Amino acid sequence: MKLQEVKLLLKKYGVRPKHKLGQNFLVSEDIIRRQVEHAELSKRDVVLEIGAGIGTLTEFLIDRAKKIYVIEKDKGMLRILNDRFDGAIEIIPGDVLEIELPDFDKTVSNIPYAISSPLTFKLLKHGFKKAILTYQKEFADRLVAAPGTKDYSRLSVAAYYYADARILETLPPEVFYPSPKVNSAIVELIPKRPPFEVDEKKYFSVVAGLFSHRRKTLRNAALDSFAAIFGREYDKREQRKIVENSLPKEFLEKRVFRLTPEELAEITKRLRISFINTQK
Ligand code: SAH
Repeated sequence: MKLQEVKLLLKKYGVRPKHKLGQNFLVSEDIIRRQVEHAELSKRDVVLEIGAGIGTLTEFLIDRAKKIYVIEKDKGMLRILNDRFDGAIEIIPGDVLEIELPDFDKTVSNIPYAISSPLTFKLLKHGFKKAILTYQKEFADRLVAAPGTKDYSRLSVAAYYYADARILETLPPEVFYPSPKVNSAIVELIPKRPPFEVDEKKYFSVVAGLFSHRRKTLRNAALDSFAAIFGREYDKREQRKIVENSLPKEFLEKRVFRLTPEELAEITKRLRISFINTQK
């Protein structure tokens, strides 16, 4: 849909875009077409669209998949979707973070940016073959960032663990109505097997603990986040000893944001050993 058509449709239904729900509608058909192409849909695919809004993207999915599910929370949007696509798609009303996801092969979605992180991990835990998602540019940068760069964060480490992620295109605000204040990016996510074996729960609490001090050396970050990393506290002197003895020596002086996901896994594994040693 072009800008004029979007405005007319909203007017006809007497609804205004809600900022709180991230209602920014794509008004560039070229970009929508490219998003759908990136997904490489086939008639065997079950497709999920999250936050379908007034259906600007949905209309380009019709007839290109075996089945299309859309999830939408807003009542006004749901009225429009029902009128436009009744019978052609399965509409699931509700909050995507609360409902149980249907099984799907691919998702193509312009998601509400406010829920980028919990939504991405909900999708990755559910499983799929390929996702083409539009995020706020800053979020996308953090998602794909490499070790040692300014955007490398907990999010980058977690994304790397679960998927291959890359930015396909950057989008300026004008391709949406209303225009958001930020740039956006189309990202491809392809889930993969974990790149190394590690106790996941432990790994992510170590990563969270260390990345609250991402510019410090591993030694100082580990001391500052001792409880998060080791699971309990000791007196300060004991904690120092544990950090010196149980973390890989060669990483102690390295800054946290320079540690690769693999090195972080190595650190996590050594901790387990030290746990057992100190408990003896
Ligand atoms: N895909 C459309 C609309 C994107 S706007 C387009 O590109 O034009 C994001 C949409 O997500 C809005 O329709 C909003 O109502 C919906 N939304 C926001 N939070 C949601 C949530 N928690 N669960 C489901 N849908 C949500």
